[in-house]
Amino acid sequence: MIYFDNAATTKVRPEVIESMLPVLSEEYGNPSSLYAMGRSAHSLIEKARKQVASAIGAKLPREIFFTSCGTESDNWAITGAMALAKGKHMITSMVEHHAVLYTCERLEEQGFSVSYVKPDKTGRITAEAVAKEIREDTALISIMYANNEVGTVNEIAAIGKLAREHGILFHTDAVQAAGHLPIDVEAENIDLLSISAHKFHAPKGVGALYIRDGVNIAKLMRGGAQERNQRPGTENTASIVAMGTALSLAVSEMQEETARISAMREHLEKRIFAEIPDVYLNGNREHRLPGTVNFRFPGAGSDAVLLSLDMEGLAASGGSACSAGAAEASHVLLAMGLSESEAKHSIRLSLGHMNTMEEVDQAVEILKRVVLRIRSISPVY
Ligand SMILES: *Cc1c(COP(=O)(O)O)cnc(C)c1O
Repeated sequence: MIYFDNAATTKVRPEVIESMLPVLSEEYGNPSSLYAMGRSAHSLIEKARKQVASAIGAKLPREIFFTSCGTESDNWAITGAMALAKGKHMITSMVEHHAVLYTCERLEEQGFSVSYVKPDKTGRITAEAVAKEIREDTALISIMYANNEVGTVNEIAAIGKLAREHGILFHTDAVQAAGHLPIDVEAENIDLLSISAHKFHAPKGVGALYIRDGVNIAKLMRGGAQERNQRPGTENTASIVAMGTALSLAVSEMQEETARISAMREHLEKRIFAEIPDVYLNGNREHRLPGTVNFRFPGAGSDAVLLSLDMEGLAASGGSACSAGAAEASHVLLAMGLSESEAKHSIRLSLGHMNTMEEVDQAVEILKRVVLRIRSISPVY
């Protein structure tokens, strides 16, 4: 099995499993308990908090709040910021993950007003496009760091600067970026930032929200006093430890891994464009994630292609895993200007830490075979 769906989720690294095992077997105390076992669980969490803070350039570890996933972090950041905001307006984009989009739709139902910025043809959101939507009553800008379907990286530092100049809070869904791109919440003027551990080789079901010191947002849940009384619930100690380990590993290896993974992706693109006729790239050739690529193959519907790829041992995806199975065309590709049919002839391959150049060559052979076969039996192509 060749796994080219690292944007959907990743395999947990052995070093990461190693780091969480003692927590599951020995250090099972409740981090809020005052006896020794509780205190040591607490200190493991605080170590992970430092690791996460330093990975994103946060000034203080206490700016990191652990959550249950990227989706919770997005919901909390947006709902919590708007609940305490003076203005009733926020800006987001048409290409956000559903964790952001559906949260914004909910806010609209509650009487808030939301502007959805349209991306350029490559899926990119620029500061200029965001600036056009700023109003007197704009309280929040939420623009994702990098897109999960096409890999396009947005103009985050410029949007952060714009938000700061206007006194508007800036949230970014950095779930695809954390561990893969250098992030600096200070230099980029980010006030709120969401990450999810399972996108960088730690387990599913744990995430974090960075909340800049001095920024107040409402809580999402009621309960205990965990996470400085901002996010109740007994901490998922083992997974939090794993997230800290995985993120610091990713950051320390980022330079070499970016080079290696980009080289694999470039090789993949070069061969696909040379060996399969009539193929298009959905995304941005310059501002992009190292491992993610989205191709359009006219005449080869994505459902048929993905099914055949699976049978041949290649795991890829039609866009976002979260909406897979839904027969709808990708909202990201539609926002980029593709027709419904074009969107339904597009697939995403996302390479990562575990992949090798040999796998890329094998994947090209499989893809070539599958696309040409499906085209040859298509009545309309
Ligand atoms: C995966 C993903 C999420 C959701 O994270 P979960 O931890 O799976 O809830 C949110 N935003 C983006 C951009 C993602 O890729």
